[in-house]
Amino acid sequence: MPLPAAARLDHRYVWHPFTQMQDWLRTEPIVLVSGRGAVLRDAHGREYLDANASIWTNLHGHQHPRLNAALRAQLGRVAHTSALGFASEPASQLAAQLVRAAQTPRATRFRGQPRLRKVFFSDNGSTALEVALKLAFEFARRTRGLTHPRFLSLQGAYHGDTVGAVSLGHIDLFHAAYSKLLFRTSPVMAPYCYRCPFNRARADRAEARTYRKCGWECVGKVEQSFDLAARRRQPIAAFAVEPHIQGAAGLIAQPEGWLQRTAAIARHHGALLIADEVMTGFGRTGGSSLFASHHEQVQPDLLCLAKGLTGGYLPMAATLTTQAIFDAFLGDYAEFKTFFHGHSFTGNPLGAAVALASLAELRRPEGLAHRRRLEQHLTRELATLWSHPHVGDLRQTGLIAGIELVQDWTTRQPFPLAARVGIRVCEAMARRGVLTRPIGNVIVLMPPYCTTLRQASRMVSALAESLEEVLPHHRGR
Ligand code: PMP
Repeated sequence: MPLPAAARLDHRYVWHPFTQMQDWLRTEPIVLVSGRGAVLRDAHGREYLDANASIWTNLHGHQHPRLNAALRAQLGRVAHTSALGFASEPASQLAAQLVRAAQTPRATRFRGQPRLRKVFFSDNGSTALEVALKLAFEFARRTRGLTHPRFLSLQGAYHGDTVGAVSLGHIDLFHAAYSKLLFRTSPVMAPYCYRCPFNRARADRAEARTYRKCGWECVGKVEQSFDLAARRRQPIAAFAVEPHIQGAAGLIAQPEGWLQRTAAIARHHGALLIADEVMTGFGRTGGSSLFASHHEQVQPDLLCLAKGLTGGYLPMAATLTTQAIFDAFLGDYAEFKTFFHGHSFTGNPLGAAVALASLAELRRPEGLAHRRRLEQHLTRELATLWSHPHVGDLRQTGLIAGIELVQDWTTRQPFPLAARVGIRVCEAMARRGVLTRPIGNVIVLMPPYCTTLRQASRMVSALAESLEEVLPHHRGR
């Protein structure tokens, strides 16, 4: 088949993110040209299932009629007006709806926690975090008199690729090279029950598939970090977390109760809580809560949203804040307390219009019922993978699933990254018409919410077949 023109241009001119371009240039790229629902189509007319929702962004599927209509209607008015100096209808409506959506449903159980009342728009997950960082930094200087506000974030954290967000991140593969470029933040142990250092007992066959009960040592580590910082008189201004589940760390869910406990510790020490819900927001983690923090009745002081905000249609982000943070930036002009930060496309009307349509979709009861069915179906389908000896762990939180591949399920020995096992499995899945991207040795399944049960089954069976191809094993163990 002739190489599509776009593939030639791509090879000649485009530099892809998080991609070893030497490998990329060796093979013909899949040129995606259209999509509908959970299906994407390439330049040769081949169809694929979008099993990672186009890098965790797409919620309701491609070419969604109501999202398309909202976008077209806004396009008929104006594509972009600036938020620097002007208000816009879609952005102001979206801010109001986001504040409403972030209100905690069962208010009494969130007693004593802040309310999110203001929305600062930006362009992507990284900038949503930059905004949160700068607000928390300046808030701590202004209200707590801290001269060097410090940040605590989790080992394995990924908060984006801009310099502030990278400073909060702790994935050596991505971040170590830039250490001299970054400001220092303290990493603290994140729960990773499957590889918990406090649970080193050799996993025998009976135990290899389960996590053992623990004494919340990882929560203790968070407490120690705050205590130590207080003793050194270097108090922590803010604690940044990906609530409920860490994404790029390898889709690692926190055990129930971790978030509530660590949020309480942070608050006890006067630190702000920054919730990075760039991946987890908008129903991804299941249940009826739109935000993962709310599963544990935690309301952050700063809530960062992107990816699914526009249903995955356009780059747009939001950082929600409390009244107290907002008020710390009020004053006479000449006091120069203004938040001197903003992007050209802040509050973009097209993005806001499609985000409003996406929120309306999320509120539809039939959509919620389908997400529940899809989640349960995925659980059942994924369980069939346990029989493969290279499947070490299966982690599912709502409609986020991570399948951790190991050399041997009884020892949990990881594959060396250089072996590119995750990449090779995903390439084999693509040959079977299912697109996703691994995180190291973890295969990601994060289907759009419109995915049918049959399509979800195909995603899992393509993974099972690809495992057999890349990591063959003899059945009947
Ligand atoms: N935070 C989290 C939790 C993310 O998963 C990501 C992106 N994968 C980001 C921040 C950065 O978002 P973006 O790529 O839109 O800058």
